[in-house]
Amino acid sequence: MRTGKLWSLMILCLMVFICPMSVFAGTFEETSSGWHYRKDDGNYARAEWVVDQGVYYYLDENGIMMADTTTPDGYLVGGDGSWVMEKQVMGGYVRTPYDNQSYYYDPDWRRYIFDGETDYAWVSDHRVLAAVRGILPVSELSEADKAVYDELEKFLIGFDYGASDYEKAKRVYEEITKRAVYHEGKYVQADDEVHSILIAGTGKCVGFARTYKLLANAVGLKCGFREDGAHMWNAVYVDGEDMVIDASTIGTSADFYLGRQKAVCPHCGHKNTFGNRVTEQPCNNCGGQIMNPKYK
Ligand SMILES: [Zn+2]
Repeated sequence: MRTGKLWSLMILCLMVFICPMSVFAGTFEETSSGWHYRKDDGNYARAEWVVDQGVYYYLDENGIMMADTTTPDGYLVGGDGSWVMEKQVMGGYVRTPYDNQSYYYDPDWRRYIFDGETDYAWVSDHRVLAAVRGILPVSELSEADKAVYDELEKFLIGFDYGASDYEKAKRVYEEITKRAVYHEGKYVQADDEVHSILIAGTGKCVGFARTYKLLANAVGLKCGFREDGAHMWNAVYVDGEDMVIDASTIGTSADFYLGRQKAVCPHCGHKNTFGNRVTEQPCNNCGGQIMNPKYK
């Protein structure tokens, strides 16, 4: 992880300062132009790979560590400069190149799983998001993923990243419901794809849920899937609280999901706030269970 690496570098620098006679295999040094790597023979690495604590980094012809790009010899390096190895793309427990969360690849479901419960992503969605974030070169995307990437980039032009979580969650919902309608016909494989939602303008719940998560993640919202075996929707985090939202339903508004209402606790009289779609919750004051008045 980036933080871990920076800490180890800081500790290493401190040790060099305290014990100047110590011999190290090589050292990263930060300057205003970027990270340099001093090898054990005292020379700086240039136009070559180095291995530091088992991790590969590439230093360019000026001796600066490359990051978020493809090296001259054609390899992908992540935001912290480490080589994104094939196994990171194909599976195994690794960190994501763009947000340093650990994840693993589930080959049965063809998706990446982040925290096991709330946050996983289909491989193609994960790759599109990595491309949007400048980690994966766009040239590495499949033709279908590139088309999704192009639509996403259009949506992101001029997007107000400083808006509140609520406004962002609402904008994503409105973008999707403006573009796509639920496919009422017999299920086809394409119904589950983001490509179908954004380009063909139709799909079923899985396609809608994947699209909502992809766009939400792209604008910086935490968002996961919810499912009950027959249907799939999302939980989007607004100011730290997960709000149920379903972009596949017709005739509802973002506020139907993201709005709030007040409820007076029948046990103690305390005023509580409910998310619109929460049926019951414990009182913030006395802990007694209270119903959302909307569902009485
Ligand atoms: Zn109460």
